[in-house]
Amino acid sequence: MSAREWIDKDFYRELGVSSDASADEIKKAYRKLARENHPDANPGDEEAERRFKAVSEAYGVLSDPDKRKEYDEARSLFGAGGAGGFNFPGGGRGGGPGGPGGAGGFDLGDIFGQGGTSGGAGFGGGLGDMLGNLFGRRGGGAGTATRGQRGADVETDVRIEFAEAVRGATLPLRLSSPATCGTCHGNGARPGTGPRTCPTCSGVGLVNRSQGAFAFSEPCRDCRGRGTIIDQPCQECGGEGVSDRTRTLTVRIPPGVDDNQRIRLAGQGEPGRGGAPAGDLYVRVHVRPHEVFGRSGNDLTITVPVDFSEVALGTTVTVPTLESKVSLKVPAGTSSGRVLRVRGKGITRRDGTQGDLLVTLQVVVPGKLDAKARKALERYAETVADTDPRPEITALLRDRE
Ligand SMILES: [Zn+2]
Ligand SMILES: [Zn+2]
Repeated sequence: MSAREWIDKDFYRELGVSSDASADEIKKAYRKLARENHPDANPGDEEAERRFKAVSEAYGVLSDPDKRKEYDEARSLFGAGGAGGFNFPGGGRGGGPGGPGGAGGFDLGDIFGQGGTSGGAGFGGGLGDMLGNLFGRRGGGAGTATRGQRGADVETDVRIEFAEAVRGATLPLRLSSPATCGTCHGNGARPGTGPRTCPTCSGVGLVNRSQGAFAFSEPCRDCRGRGTIIDQPCQECGGEGVSDRTRTLTVRIPPGVDDNQRIRLAGQGEPGRGGAPAGDLYVRVHVRPHEVFGRSGNDLTITVPVDFSEVALGTTVTVPTLESKVSLKVPAGTSSGRVLRVRGKGITRRDGTQGDLLVTLQVVVPGKLDAKARKALERYAETVADTDPRPEITALLRDRE
């Protein structure tokens, strides 16, 4: 395929989508067309086979955001014709190397100011570079091929109980996402067959071609730049090696996980293409609050209502821990708001660090008193009438008189 044929193609038209189609629309269009024109479904139909190859080629470029961007740029640069294809001045199709004969016609080299003279840098290497970019040989430099693209990271949410967050949990997680095709295990070939190295490009995915005054690399026509050829594409994924699948994963939530914390599962994201590693899966944990317990770092907290007489006289209160219960001695004369610490009854992390249970005593006042309690309390009030419970404030008020 020459450069001219290459940018002459209208990949959008091949897929029947508009040039501003979303990635999803492109994927849908491709899947539909690939299914309809699949050689297996149309034995001996050469037109279907040609269409199948054409849509695969179009999808190969348009499904890759970088390639698509450069393809779009190339199209706008060379002025895509309304009816599809680019208007190349002169040089009708099939003119071939050696150039169009007619007067006034000029070949590709002219566009880049490289006519007969050698080495003109008029267009900075021009088309060759651009096509190189299209296939991931950015700037002719480091040559990081886009074949082999790491899979995307995926994020999902789980909701767990408070106690599960404290103790840690192992949860099944159902995920529906693009995953390595289970039928072909990602190589795109029908089971029992396998991809073979492309003989045209020896697996490189690019072939060198010279045209007019300059040489450039272009994608191998036979393997669509992949370096391998799949003779019989997998029916499940149409040769893409990726299909939507529902997976059930087991997620281990470490003890002490915080609400909104993300847990990374390396390599459980979207599969990579062309043998590249998969992306990561991030599981965002939402912890349902507990009706009684709270958390402060590794400590569990609980607020325990107590009666005035309990803290005044001293008592023993029994409070729940996450696992069972514990009895605490409350000394006589304990104030409201006092925090009692129960060592080691908080969160135990994997590294052995251990939190405590913090018990806050809170004096509650009954909203209603029966006659007997009221009498007793009135008697109590009389006995303490001479004791000022707030001497500092009384002193301050005296200053203000
Ligand atoms: Zn497959
Ligand atoms: Zn090839």
